[in-house]
Amino acid sequence: MKKVRTRFAPSPTGYMHIGNLRTALFEYLIAKKDGGDFILRIEDTDQGRKVEGAVDIIYDTLKTCRLNWDEGPDVGGNYGPYIQSERLSMYKGYALDLIEKNGAHYCFCKECELEAQRKEAGDSFKFVDPCKNLTKEQIQEKLDHNEEYVIRQTIENVEKTSYYDEVYGQIDVDADVLEEQVLIKSDGFPTYNFANIIDDHTMNITHVVRGNEYLSSTPKYNLIYDAYGWDRPTYVH
Ligand code: GLU
Repeated sequence: MKKVRTRFAPSPTGYMHIGNLRTALFEYLIAKKDGGDFILRIEDTDQGRKVEGAVDIIYDTLKTCRLNWDEGPDVGGNYGPYIQSERLSMYKGYALDLIEKNGAHYCFCKECELEAQRKEAGDSFKFVDPCKNLTKEQIQEKLDHNEEYVIRQTIENVEKTSYYDEVYGQIDVDADVLEEQVLIKSDGFPTYNFANIIDDHTMNITHVVRGNEYLSSTPKYNLIYDAYGWDRPTYVH
């Protein structure tokens, strides 16, 4: 059996609160019950929303509650770095690989084009990306002209997608409600939505334990795991 590895992955976009601590406690207990590892990872890809002092509060709170981590930014480990902003160089390569595997595509749309679609569609807005129809040559031409782009997830030929959550049970979702989310932003930074998958996979995380606000995004993450041919983790929302 694989060694259990859980992670606490807070974003320093605000001060740690009791909900975060509760998540960390479950992650710690799930790992320790089976002699596994509890990892601390700081998810700071949203640099614009970073709050001064938030990381120190994370360290202090976990230490005060004796939720000692086996690997993390300050103690190191075999799967580092444990701060996302120090892992930036690897995400782009994974995104390009995902394009090759038809799990993502370049999108050169400007915000105004998205806005026009949004206005027309009203409440039922779901972005239909014209860039999916670009030929390889057209894409190359745009790249050669240094046109700004993002890399978006491609969701095609999927009708339904399902997964099992240890708390919520079977979750079935119609693929047409899933947005083709941005994975790499125009500044080259990954979104949380992409970085969490790459990090959980490359850090050998077995159990993803997090708040239930991520239940509805998880089907999109699963399609990315599937596109790479990677095992999905066990989910505990
Ligand atoms: N960085 C995310 C947050 O703070 C964590 C989500 C996760 O554990 O995957 O909400």
